[in-house]
Amino acid sequence: MNAIKLLPKSVAEKIAAGEVVERPASVVKELVENSIDAGAKRITVEIERGGVSLIRVTDDGCGIAAEDVPTAFLRHATSKIKVENDLDSIATLGFRGEALAAISAVSKVQLITSDGNGIGTVFSIEGGENGQLDEIGCAKGTIISVSELFYNVPARMKFLKKDVSEGNAVAAVIDRLALSHPDIAFVFIRDGKRTLVTSGDGKLLNVIYNVLGRDFASSLIEVNYELSGIKVSGYICKPIACRPNRNYQFMFLNGRFVKSGTAAAALDNAYKNSAMIGKYPAALLNVYVPFDSVDVNVHPAKTEVRFSDEKKIFDSIYFACKSALAAADTRPEIVPQRPYVKANKAAINEYKQLLIGTAAESDKLFEKNVPHPASENKVQSNVDFNDSGLFIADVKEYLNATVEPSKAQPQTPPATIFEKPATHKETEEDKPQVRFIGEAFRTYIIAEMNDSIYLIDKHAAHERILFEQLKNRKAGSQLLISPVSVTLTKNEYETIVSNLPVLLDAGFETEDFGNGVVVVRTVPANLSGEDVGDMMSDIADSLSSKGKVELERLEEIYHRVACRSAIKAGNTSSALELSRLAERVLTNNDILYCPHGRPVAFEISRRNLEKHFGRIQ
Ligand code: ADP
Ligand code: MG
Repeated sequence: MNAIKLLPKSVAEKIAAGEVVERPASVVKELVENSIDAGAKRITVEIERGGVSLIRVTDDGCGIAAEDVPTAFLRHATSKIKVENDLDSIATLGFRGEALAAISAVSKVQLITSDGNGIGTVFSIEGGENGQLDEIGCAKGTIISVSELFYNVPARMKFLKKDVSEGNAVAAVIDRLALSHPDIAFVFIRDGKRTLVTSGDGKLLNVIYNVLGRDFASSLIEVNYELSGIKVSGYICKPIACRPNRNYQFMFLNGRFVKSGTAAAALDNAYKNSAMIGKYPAALLNVYVPFDSVDVNVHPAKTEVRFSDEKKIFDSIYFACKSALAAADTRPEIVPQRPYVKANKAAINEYKQLLIGTAAESDKLFEKNVPHPASENKVQSNVDFNDSGLFIADVKEYLNATVEPSKAQPQTPPATIFEKPATHKETEEDKPQVRFIGEAFRTYIIAEMNDSIYLIDKHAAHERILFEQLKNRKAGSQLLISPVSVTLTKNEYETIVSNLPVLLDAGFETEDFGNGVVVVRTVPANLSGEDVGDMMSDIADSLSSKGKVELERLEEIYHRVACRSAIKAGNTSSALELSRLAERVLTNNDILYCPHGRPVAFEISRRNLEKHFGRIQ
């Protein structure tokens, strides 16, 4: 066997460097974190060729005194820890005193710095060897340039991706750093082009606008919450703006970007039954945990974080988001588009004829400039008149109605968790009046309340109401006149038989008859007896995916029952039925989404209509 030898210093440094410096993005992260720790208010990052040929970070922080410069490049050299106890209460970002040593071991570094006392310093070092120190005139702050990363470690070089990918990874790091420091003005220059500028005005929403774009910034709800010492603040998206992946989920723990399965789960749970299935909430959350109360285990160079008390973190994030969503619950609004109406002059004229009968009469009405619901948008221009005798009469009434002074929408007091805001006793007068106008495509109820018109998806609305009834055990179950025996496929049968207690809980008293047959004695009150066979297959299908906890399985059953029992789009419904449904939906702020997260109703406000018709600016 070979004799044991110490590795030469240069080799040892390169190995150590590998832990900190994986790719240009990790260098940028370390350097910018140093600038942040140095109290910088302005930080500029420039990269060339994805950061492989050059990374330059310029800051206006405290700088480094000339005599400290060479020390800063030694391993375990740091100005951030003095005694061992400090390790417990570290608040700065980088704290292992090895970034500069590691980076300089695998690249060519030039540091220009001044602490504002006397002349500045320039220090050049290549591959961690033979540092050259000189004087240079410069302003307070630091400029560090890292060139030819991995020039002396070809093996590492091979692992780098294309310049574009490395550059994108750097951009992602800067996005996160900018998002977690709204009080610092960031500039990011990629191959000579400025790709990000933030103002440093301290407003998180402004950084979100700069980093993630205008559309995203306009879909957000503010979060501000504290639970047993854990503070959660930031922004989450409206349920309707959920996204197809988790790319827009940012969590910062005590100012540092982290990934946490617990946080993601808490977020998902807060949106349960309001986000569409397969879509993920977008969120930017700052979580502050007292350094000494929760044990946070996060590798400084990695982002995955674990907490000693995961439940506490879950609860704080869950309740923070849930209460923000509850306070912000509003129906999505359709804003009419001007160009559409221009293209449909002919349709409007057709309507005038159709609605009023004679052209002369209709013109008179139009001259009165009364808001006209029929010319509003696509949906209404195709209303099925035969389907609702009420429609024509009601529109006439609507057209003749004098415009009432606007009644303010009832204000919802800020909701505390789950407890519905203490409602004062509602008198008949307080109750907003819902007026049923008609139905379009045998699917959408058109109704009016306060100063808005609403389009309600009748199936989604009914399904949600039934789902809530089932969940709150309001529906109860009914004994079938004669028990129904259902023959199932092998898989269905096995699933049903192993879920008998859950089924019973949901209102289905079901007995195993052996050989693929089950007998159903009771069903939830709102399900018709004829549907039992199909219902059982449906339920078996929804329960077959493993790993669901009992509550989830119960909810699955409620979904299926509600879906099956609800009135269907395309079916004929009576005006009375629809008008009741509209009233239920519009006077109950809980019914905003169907159990699968599709919106139940869209609002078109009078204000928007009036803007659209040019009656107001
Ligand atoms: P650490 O950040 O863990 O202390 P580093 O190797 O990243 O270790 O940096 C070493 C030291 O160099 C820091 O403790 C700090 O004193 C100094 N330093 C590095 N970058 C800067 C900067 N941009 N401005 C001021 N001081 C800096
Ligand atoms: Mg550092």
